[in-house]
Amino acid sequence: MEFDLIARHFTRATPGAVLGVGDDCALLAPTPGMQLAVSSDMLLEGRHFSPQDGPAGLGHKALAVNLSDLAAMGATPRWATLSIALPAADEGWLAAFARGFFRIADQHGIELVGGDTTRGPLTLSITVIGEVPPGQALRRDGARPGDDVWVSGTLGAAAMALAYRQGRLFMEQIDAAKVLPALYLPTPRVELGLALRGVATSAIDISDGLLGDLGHVLERSQAGAVLDFAALPTLPAVRAYLHEAVARDCVLAGGDDYELCFTAPPDKHDAVLAAAASAGVAVTRIGRITDTPGLSVVDADGAPLTIERTGHDHFAA
Ligand code: ADP
Ligand code: MG
Repeated sequence: MEFDLIARHFTRATPGAVLGVGDDCALLAPTPGMQLAVSSDMLLEGRHFSPQDGPAGLGHKALAVNLSDLAAMGATPRWATLSIALPAADEGWLAAFARGFFRIADQHGIELVGGDTTRGPLTLSITVIGEVPPGQALRRDGARPGDDVWVSGTLGAAAMALAYRQGRLFMEQIDAAKVLPALYLPTPRVELGLALRGVATSAIDISDGLLGDLGHVLERSQAGAVLDFAALPTLPAVRAYLHEAVARDCVLAGGDDYELCFTAPPDKHDAVLAAAASAGVAVTRIGRITDTPGLSVVDADGAPLTIERTGHDHFAA
């Protein structure tokens, strides 16, 4: 039965692999001379998604968050494995999940080459493998004092959608409708990551909030940063609520945005804009890397903002 499920829902042609689903291992032939970029992300029901979430959206999001890690390294997506525990063999659920999964997989040329399927509380674990030329990966340790700090897209919409859904923030329905897609259908910035090879000095994807994730870059790069709160890009539907502390918190420290935060020297300003244009994504300069450690956010007058939360900690109470 398990084999039928795998055959029906998770077995597709894999022209980019020597051998795909169906044997004890997949066989992969990397492009000669390329380095492999490998990353795993797990999604648990009740922690990363809610039991009410539709399976097609879940298939999309589970792969999207993994593709986002490849994007943040400037790696070209190649292959994925999918391990899935589910309480019952629900054909309709699996078919819809696979539809969402393969739709975004096809968009990014990534092939499902293996995995594991078992009974248990709904849990998804995906590993993605990409390729990057030696020395060209966008690492966290490359930010240098004087670099500009950039971010793609807009910030805070996914966290606002979650706060709205959990009843922690009131939003007009028309605004809620504008932020909900960010939570359910995140767009991994794969093309931008590729276009930033040789341009950005460091990059990270924002999965746990801007301040926390940029903090990882600063730590690895042994540097600090000053961010300009007024420069942070937000949707109008987010901006309308910035008088609320919850909304400010979502922009600065909200998770699930999956935008790229990256650094580049000021003389690469035009190259950054050209990379963004080629990827079809907006990018915004939001601050500067400093040689004094620490991360501060200043308002339009240059006065420092007090920050309560800095990011999402999965082990926090
Ligand atoms: P084994 O017992 O040798 O680990 P499995 O029965 O777990 O083999 O899996 C059979 C084949 O199906 C393997 O090639 C495995 O990679 C693949 N597979 C299992 N589950 C999935 C899944 N959810 N998605 C993709 N491939 C899967
Ligand atoms: Mg197995």
